[in-house]
Amino acid sequence: MSCKIDYQAPPDLLANRVILVTGAGDGIGRTAALSYARHGATVILLGRTIKKLERVYDEIEAAGGPQPAIFPLNFEGASLADFHDMALTLEKEFGRLDGLLHNASLLGRITPFAQYDPELWEQVMQVNINGPIWMTQALLPLLEKSEDASVIFTSSSVGRKGRAYWGAYSVSKFATEGFMEVLADELESQPHLRVNTLNPGATRTQMRRSAYPGEDPATLRTPEDIMPTYLWLMGPESAGVSGQKFDAQPPRVSA
Ligand code: NDP
Repeated sequence: MSCKIDYQAPPDLLANRVILVTGAGDGIGRTAALSYARHGATVILLGRTIKKLERVYDEIEAAGGPQPAIFPLNFEGASLADFHDMALTLEKEFGRLDGLLHNASLLGRITPFAQYDPELWEQVMQVNINGPIWMTQALLPLLEKSEDASVIFTSSSVGRKGRAYWGAYSVSKFATEGFMEVLADELESQPHLRVNTLNPGATRTQMRRSAYPGEDPATLRTPEDIMPTYLWLMGPESAGVSGQKFDAQPPRVSA
């Protein structure tokens, strides 16, 4: 579906909402966390590098946003018990969850499938799809307690059309799209809980630099540029929209 690149979010769009962002220490997740806090949300910053999460925490505080929370978690080693402990902690601290942005991902390697390392394949699937799936299951009861909850899974153009050499990353994003459809269909009778995917499109981050080392970053949109769709999809104006696949920017026109 089309992007909402021109959407202008009111300053209090996410007031009184509790929103968890994974991979909140860097790249798009960091900017989404800052942006959600700027629009009034209490943001739970989840990631694997505590120093980065602390910097985002400090930035939110310095900007006068609602006090955030830090939740250190590495999807690679996380167990079902960790996700259930997380749900218990969040239940105690906040009582509910109004938003969940699944953003953390690993690129793995861009390489012919014949040479793909099986261990790396497993690692990418664990971080990009298996971890997020079981985390979602553990957090469903908390999301169900919200009057208007939005779950956003981050996809990619290679999760909608396969591309040579993108291996586990591409397959994990196809799985993300499929899981979103299954869950959205199951939740049809719960209109206060919506689930969608969002493809950020080519964006100036470390992951993009690793995937396209020869590219001039100045030609790319920044994480800040793509926030309108991230805000719209998290906020009340997209209530009732579920099971849809969104793009955060128009496709790039190559010369
Ligand atoms: P970055 O690599 O810049 O950031 C990824 C974030 O995920 C980092 O904060 C990283 O933590 C975190 N992360 C990675 N592995 C784990 C793990 N095992 N456990 C917990 N957190 C982890 O990527 P982007 O910001 O570019 O990407 C964000 C999302 O957008 C991803 O889902 C990506 O697939 C998607 N995307 C990005 C595009 C782009 O052009 N940038 C295009 C299409 C999709 P740490 O900082 O500690 O490394």
